[in-house]
Formats: sequence, structure tokens, C-alpha cells
Amino acid sequence: KKFPGDFSNNLMQRNTPKVLFATTQPAGFDQPQLIVFNTTLSEEIGLGKYEEGDLNFLVGTHLPENVQTYATAYAGHQFGNWAGQLGDGRAILAGEIINETGKKTEIQWKGAGATPYSRHADGRAVLRSSVREYLMSEAMYHLGIPTTRALSLAFTGEDVVRDIMYNGNPQYEKGAVIIRTAESFLRFGHFELMSAQGEYKTLQDLVDFTIENYFPEIISSGDQRYKDFFENISIRTADLIVEWFRVGFVHGVMNTDNMSILGLTIDYGPYSMMDEYDLNFTPNTTDLPGRRYAFGKQGQIAQWNLWQLANALHPLIKDEKFLENTLNNFGTYFWKTHDNMLCRKFGFDELLKEDEEFFTNWQGLMQELQLDYTLFFNILEKTTPEADIQELFKNVSYITLNEEKLKKIQDFIKTYESRLKLNAISKEDSLAIMKKTNPKFILRNYLLYECIEEITHGKTTMLEKLTQALENPYQELFSEFSSKRPSGYDDIAGCSTL
Ligand code: AMP
Ligand code: MG
Ligand code: MG
Repeated sequence: KKFPGDFSNNLMQRNTPKVLFATTQPAGFDQPQLIVFNTTLSEEIGLGKYEEGDLNFLVGTHLPENVQTYATAYAGHQFGNWAGQLGDGRAILAGEIINETGKKTEIQWKGAGATPYSRHADGRAVLRSSVREYLMSEAMYHLGIPTTRALSLAFTGEDVVRDIMYNGNPQYEKGAVIIRTAESFLRFGHFELMSAQGEYKTLQDLVDFTIENYFPEIISSGDQRYKDFFENISIRTADLIVEWFRVGFVHGVMNTDNMSILGLTIDYGPYSMMDEYDLNFTPNTTDLPGRRYAFGKQGQIAQWNLWQLANALHPLIKDEKFLENTLNNFGTYFWKTHDNMLCRKFGFDELLKEDEEFFTNWQGLMQELQLDYTLFFNILEKTTPEADIQELFKNVSYITLNEEKLKKIQDFIKTYESRLKLNAISKEDSLAIMKKTNPKFILRNYLLYECIEEITHGKTTMLEKLTQALENPYQELFSEFSSKRPSGYDDIAGCSTL
């Protein structure tokens, strides 16, 4: 298929040369089978509708002549330790496509085969991880959160050998490929690699390239330009993590190689949406007992990751005082943004001094009573001073709510009602803010689990239904998705994602 875009202008030929990438070819698969194609996204980026024969492209088998595929090299800090050089081990880039409005989108296969950066791994992906990435990245997009996106999901027709956690035996699983898209897949790790290798000229080229292409808001020059770059990344990153907090997203593996330089959510691995509110929740079974990447730590970790990026950019930004200040300001900015976000969840028009205590009490209540994060706010919209608390909250907790516990909710609601009275806006406007801020539908892990089971058995009913739900997360399309995680699914949080 001939692309409407201009591939002569891709990253490869730009001024970010040598060691940042290696050309490589997808493995090619004889028996692909399409599971789902994202027509809306395809049209948006300039690829058009799905046509006969496209499937071979979607799994990377037949490529247009004007596409030169490649994988990039990056480095990273994993679980707090320098991991040295990594790279796209199972991601292959096709360059970028330009749509009618001039918007450029990078296209990448995930699971289409080994690359020069695969080390000893196979470069493949299994159905499980591919479904998880396809659906969750689209869910994040529709929640309004910056993210990479997913264009297609297909079986490769190949079986892939994997260790499934929980039973320890290697098992064959169906292989799959997704195509994902982003304005850019550049990560903190790309900059760390250049810096660690002492390739300061290439580092500078890469920074210049990144600013020119992806940071139109930076208009300064000279030293200030690089400072603005770092400050911008800090802000985008803080904003992103606050958005994760808003919806209860736990990334699960916030290594610096999984941090997008553009502030996108990237690398959907062991992530999970949080059911019961728990600051210590981690879906990543390899992150126990340290819980480095737990829900409540994501702000701190982002800041730690920015420290590593600051180190990497130090050859360009010699002003250490500036770097330190920016990093120190991260916390202040992050919590201010976070608290403003919480205000919107509660329907408050502005952050007041006394809200800090209110939020702390609320956190304590959520944590102690194991209340479902999403359902709690949905119920709060319906709460009135006269409401029957027991009735309203009966299916929101993951533990039994006795008299004493119900009383705690009752008391909290009273405080909430009096806090609402301090709003300058009407009750109606306050509700409107809540409805825009609190999703009605979140892609819970158990739903993904059920969906994957179904696809494995050749059915896509659930996939289609979940897609509809996740495209309209602020509405309740299906009442069966508006309840807490059923019992029996309590230990699927760390769904293995290889
Ligand atoms: P992640 O934990 O997903 O961020 O992956 C860490 C590194 O391992 C990345 O550089 C990946 O490209 C690489 N990797 C993960 N799975 C595979 C695989 N099946 N084949 C090759 N490389 C992989
Ligand atoms: Mg990764
Ligand atoms: Mg991954």
C-alpha cells in the first residue's frame, strides 16, 4: 500500500545520527488474523480505511517500498539502578506519517520480531500483553490523558513460549502484534544513553531535534532554550502523573526507559487501574515487597526519574542551581496540581486552606474502609444530606461495613456537605465539574482478564463492548461495568504481561 505520507523525512534521515538506531526488518508472519482495527485513529493520522490486503502490513509482513524500518537504542534506570544500554527489543518503527493537516505520527509495531536490541529475548508479544496495551492505551486516550495509541491488534499465527506467573511452567501462548502510534516514542532513556556514552554532540542534536519538533512552546534561544526544555518536561510529567491519580491508573514499571520525553503514558505492561483505594497498591508482582512503583509513589518516582534526566542533560545545562531548583519545584507544582485535581473530583470550585486536612481525612477513610476509588466518586454525585448512606455505599467497599464504619462515612459526608457550601458556584455547576472529572467507566483488570479469555476462545463480544465503554468513559453505557471487582478476582492484579 502506498502511504499518503512522506517517509523521506523520517527520524532516520534527520540530524540525530549514528548510534541512536539500527535498521531492522519485522520477522514476517504467514498466517496473521485480524482481531481489531482502529478506523477512527487510522483516518485521523492519514492512513485511511482498512482495505483488503492491509493485514500483511499490520503485522509487518509486507511493507511499502518507501518505508525503512528501524529500532532505536536507549538506556535507562530500572527499579532505581542504572541498567545501561537497552533499546527497542520488540518494537520496530516504520517512521512517521503526515496527515492532511500536516500532523506527524510515528508508527511502530510491537511484537513483530527481534531487533539488534533484543538481547536474548525473542522480540515477540503474546495475546495477553497485546490486548492489554491495545485497550488500555485507547482507554487512556478517551479519558483525556496523554498517551501512545493503538491502531491495530492481530494474531501472528505463531505460538510464543512464555513463563506464566502463578504456575511457573513455560507455556505456549498465541503471538500477537499491535501497531501503536505516538507523536514520538522518545524516552528519557534515549537522552541518558547519549549522555552516558559521552556522545554530547549527538545528545545536543537530539535535544535540538526534540525541541524543534515537539516543543513549539519553547521559543527561547541559547542556554535558556535547554533550561526551558527541562522545565517543560518536568511540567508535562507532573501533569501526566496527576492525571494518573485522577483516574486511579498505576503504571507499575516507571523505569526511565518507560518515561516519555513528551509526557505521554507509554509502555503498558503490568499496569492496572486501581479498584479499592490503596496508596500502596502495585500491580507489578516483581515490585514486591519494595513497592517502588505503587500508586501513591508515582509522583516521587517521576521526580526521581527527572533527576536522572537532569543528570543526562547536565552537559548541556551546566547551571546546577537551576537544575536543582527545577527538581525541587517539581514537588510543589505536583502537589498543587494534584490538590486542584482532587478539588474537581469533589466538585469544589477552588482549593481552600482547610482542604489539605479534608483530603487527608478522606484518604484515611478510603484506605481504612477499602472503598472503590471510582465508585466512591460516582456515588458522591448522588449523595444528599438525607441520603441513606448504608444503601448508597453498600457495594462500594471490599470489606463489610459495620455500624461503626458506616458512621465514619456518614460523618465524612457531613463534612463534605458543609465544605460544598463554601463553593461560589451552584450545585449544578459543581456536579458538572464532577461528571467531567470522575470517570463512570474504568478498564478494570478483571474485565481485561475476561476479555483476553474470550479472545483466546475465538470470541470478541467482550472486546467490542469494552471498546464502546472505554470510548465513552464519562457515561454509563453498561450498568454491569459499574460495579466493583467481583470476588474471585482478587489476585489477578499482577497479571503477567510478557
Ligand atoms: P519493559 O519492562 O517492558 O520496559 O522492557 C524492558 C526492556 O526489555 C525493553 O528494552 C524491551 O524492549 C525489552 N523486551 C521486553 N520484552 C521483550 C521481548 N519479548 N523481546 C525482546 N525484548 C524485549
Ligand atoms: Mg519498556
Ligand atoms: Mg513493556
